[in-house]
Amino acid sequence: MLSLEEALEKLLASVRSVEGSESCPVSSAVGRFVTQDILAKSALPPFDNSAMDGYAVRSADIRGAGLDKPVRLHCIASVPAGQCFSGTIAAGQCARIFTGSPLPAGADAVVMQEDTRVHAAEVDVLDAVKPWENIRFEGEDIKESASIAKAGARVTAQTAALLCACGVAEIPVRRFVRVAILATGGELKNPGDTLGSGEIYESNRILISALSRGIGVEPILHDIVQDDLAATVQAIRHASAADTIITCGGVSVGEYDFVKAAIYELGGAVDFWRVAIKPGKPFAHARVFDKPLFGLPGNPVSALVTFWLLVRPALLKMAGAADFAPTISFGTLAEEISNPGDRRHFVRVTIDSTGNVRASGPQASHRLGSLAAANGLLDVPACAVFEPGKIVKVLLLPN
Ligand code: AMP
Ligand code: MG
Repeated sequence: MLSLEEALEKLLASVRSVEGSESCPVSSAVGRFVTQDILAKSALPPFDNSAMDGYAVRSADIRGAGLDKPVRLHCIASVPAGQCFSGTIAAGQCARIFTGSPLPAGADAVVMQEDTRVHAAEVDVLDAVKPWENIRFEGEDIKESASIAKAGARVTAQTAALLCACGVAEIPVRRFVRVAILATGGELKNPGDTLGSGEIYESNRILISALSRGIGVEPILHDIVQDDLAATVQAIRHASAADTIITCGGVSVGEYDFVKAAIYELGGAVDFWRVAIKPGKPFAHARVFDKPLFGLPGNPVSALVTFWLLVRPALLKMAGAADFAPTISFGTLAEEISNPGDRRHFVRVTIDSTGNVRASGPQASHRLGSLAAANGLLDVPACAVFEPGKIVKVLLLPN
């Protein structure tokens, strides 16, 4: 049986980024992956400007100014943000200025409004400023033509703001990776239908599709697949129109588990099956119609854990991402968490706003209550006992 690291290495080695990029307005690019380095069209700030509401001055004029030693300047202009003063500030003069207003020629500093007393066009300055104090310089944040988004970066709200601020309206992004999601199981019914005896409601497709969407991949939901070989073959054939396929269930050792048999029937190959983790041991990775297929175990928690640890990085690589590392948070165990078993256990936990970490409830792999309550996974090695107070690393789940 492969270790998690071995399985991940094999998965990542077997997938490559999809071809094709498209131009996308920055306003709709959040969550997508940039395909080439993006350069600033304009410097940030684009011109020297005031960091304060106050008065643009020549710092030499007010050297030594103080509360008891005000220096009187003559105010010759008012420069609102968005306008430029065409004149020059000469000795003994100043201009009214606002946060973001262009610095008038001749001035080399701004005195904050709170350090002045105004008498019509005369301004008493009550404090000295150093040359270039309270000035935001052209390009001090970003130089013109500097790289502001790297190929493979995911566009976040913050990067979108930077792109806009540097005058970039459209960027090239990777086309969406399309992942077909199948749920197998004769016992499965769609929520809203009436359950017959022995039936349960299907919940993995929504789980996996929402997680996929959250990482910037487009899910395509397929109908529930009955537990028979012909139906499974047909469903996988149909799903192979997508870039990749995720199946849920039917990948274990039971007589009604047909996913692996269907892959062989379709001329595909199973690259590996089973990973030494709990939950999620029966995970399978295969190729069919030369596309990657990820076979998740049917228990919802197993499906989530294998998706998050194994499929997520592979999908990110396909989507053109440069970074597949999960988001983590350090916290302090508020209770003992132990793993008496011989496989690494990914325990569903909650980490609260003060950093306290607790199991989110009972840990059997069919328990959706504790899955819904969890916002992270804690990697507990085989036969380990984690004492209360231990600092632990939590793999954060999206919330
Ligand atoms: P399997 O991996 O097919 O043996 O399924 C393991 C367990 O997960 C069984 O109890 C199934 O009923 C349940 N299960 C399988 N697929 C789903 C699904 N899509 N939604 C909810 N439960 C499922
Ligand atoms: Mg099944």
